[in-house]
Amino acid sequence: MTTYIAPVRDMQFVIREMADLERIAKLPGYEEATPELADAVLEAAAKLASEVLAPLNKIGDEQGATLTPDGVVAAKGFGAAYRQFVDNGWNGLSGDPAYGGQGLPGLICAATVEMWNSANMAFALCPLLTAGATEALKQHGSPELRARYLPKLVSGEWTGTMNLTEPQAGSDLSAVRTKAVPEADHYRIYGQKIFITWGDHDMGENVLHLVLARTPNAPEGVRGISLFLVPKFLVHANGNLAERNDLRCVSIEHKLGIHASPTCVMSFGDNQGAIGYLVGGENKGLSHMFTMMNEARQKVGLQGLGIAERAYQAARDYAKERVQGRPVGNKSGERVTIIHHPDVRRMLLTMKSQIEAMRAFGYVLAGDLDFAQKHPDGAARERFQARADLLIPVLKGWCTELAVEIASIGVQVHGGMGFIEETGACQYLRDARIAPIYEGTTGIQASDLVGRKLSADNGRAMAALVGEMRTLEVHLGDTEGAGFALIRIALRDGILALEQATQWMLQTIGQDPNAALAGSVSYLMLVGYVCGGWQMARAAIASRTALRSGESDEFYRTKIATAVFYAEQVMPKATALLSVVRSGASTARSLGDECF
Ligand SMILES: Cc1cc2nc3c(=O)[nH]c(=O)nc-3n(C[C@H](O)[C@H](O)[C@H](O)COP(=O)(O)OP(=O)(O)OC[C@H]3O[C@@H](n4cnc5c(N)ncnc54)[C@H](O)[C@@H]3O)c2cc1C
Repeated sequence: MTTYIAPVRDMQFVIREMADLERIAKLPGYEEATPELADAVLEAAAKLASEVLAPLNKIGDEQGATLTPDGVVAAKGFGAAYRQFVDNGWNGLSGDPAYGGQGLPGLICAATVEMWNSANMAFALCPLLTAGATEALKQHGSPELRARYLPKLVSGEWTGTMNLTEPQAGSDLSAVRTKAVPEADHYRIYGQKIFITWGDHDMGENVLHLVLARTPNAPEGVRGISLFLVPKFLVHANGNLAERNDLRCVSIEHKLGIHASPTCVMSFGDNQGAIGYLVGGENKGLSHMFTMMNEARQKVGLQGLGIAERAYQAARDYAKERVQGRPVGNKSGERVTIIHHPDVRRMLLTMKSQIEAMRAFGYVLAGDLDFAQKHPDGAARERFQARADLLIPVLKGWCTELAVEIASIGVQVHGGMGFIEETGACQYLRDARIAPIYEGTTGIQASDLVGRKLSADNGRAMAALVGEMRTLEVHLGDTEGAGFALIRIALRDGILALEQATQWMLQTIGQDPNAALAGSVSYLMLVGYVCGGWQMARAAIASRTALRSGESDEFYRTKIATAVFYAEQVMPKATALLSVVRSGASTARSLGDECF
């Protein structure tokens, strides 16, 4: 099995030349984020990822977490690695300095999130959920809750969870039944939650659960859900830990992948009731939880990128070692490594080009979120936020669906050995498979995109995006040789498909919502492929500029060739998806349930 080496060169390129770190470093509060600092962060993160986290990936897969009478015990080595992660300040990298964070832009943090997930996806889930809990508490918690809990969450000494799911309430959270009964300055929580990631463990001192529950007489459905902070250990006013709260992990799931990440069934209030504190307003829980979910959805999108990169590295390294067959057209020649076979090269470039598109898309979106938070001009902040709101479901859905495809191609490159656990290729595919399911399935992301994000402003944010793509298309030029002409044609066709599919969606969602929703996943994927193509075109232009200015780095020539491959072999999917979107749902709906 090969190790993981972070693709720092490409990360630097995207951060500097595509997501415009220089402009981000001019925003108030981000002045320290110089390119040199970003490089130093990437280098140190890459070291931790490859030397500490990656070697634990297989151990975690084989051993998993264990439920003991004292609670969940993480796989061997995970506790020490987590302490190192916290002690070196990684958890608070982009955390609010008011609570002890380092306040670096989310853009730089995006690269570290990718690295943690490439190195060890099961491990990376723990800080991923802590980040979501931190954001929800920061935005909606009372000053007292923020002061008491945020510093330890930001440092990572305490970890956070997201407690939404119940057996009858998965995608449909209106069915949540967990109860919250008011008592003095707090509530007593009673109920069971399932599938809670890192719901219990021994890596940190405390686990803070953010729990959706209903107060007595709350309205039915999502309007009656409130959000509560329910700590594993209660906390004194001075910040010291007090007695254990009435909650426990009753079992952990046996599952396809991410074995080292305990997926817990959590029981709240078996005895006197678990003490919980209301976060934000009563009955406003779902909208508050959306803060957490948006943060988590963005990071799960980056997780898709991370696991895809890991699968690619393993496939690439194997293809350079495995000897099989002879060169095409020279059957008597020396036997060659499989990377010499055209179909293996196709598979590797299919992986590489889409991963680079995902990286550029994900990091640029992280940069948009930085502008949305810190831009001095209110109208600009709104514009960036609208862009991010529109594209977060696409990042989550598209990158995680591609992650599964890419990890599957990774198995294929290995041939039979891909199906054998020893190479690690299986684990990447097994681990990747959850990403399009949790934090809202791809179907839920697609209905969010079409039913809420696109409709909310009648397509305005999408029209602005398309406008920007058109401006770029002109800059590609026709006279730069076949490569750039190909990129330009592919981008033009992709933009047209995106425009037409969007028009169809906006017309159809009001008249025939079932037809629109039936095409929504295809629409989401179409948006993803075109956004990826747009970013690859930008990457090609930036590389051309670098080469023209005298740079001789092979990286730029490879980037242009990779962008051409994406234009030729990936972008056409957008046009194909346009007809799928438009075909609507009539055929699927014409069949009765008994026909399935
Ligand atoms: C390993 C793991 C970790 C998890 N971690 C957490 C966690 O930390 N916290 C937490 O709260 N939950 C967690 N979950 C739960 C996860 O978020 C849910 O499994 C997921 O949201 C889907 O819900 P469900 O399983 O009930 O599937 P269902 O909602 O039953 O969905 C089944 C299928 O129906 C489709 N579907 C359902 N409703 C619709 C609709 N309205 N429109 C279109 N399609 C629809 C879905 O897309 C899916 O294909 C985790 C799950 C797993 C397996």
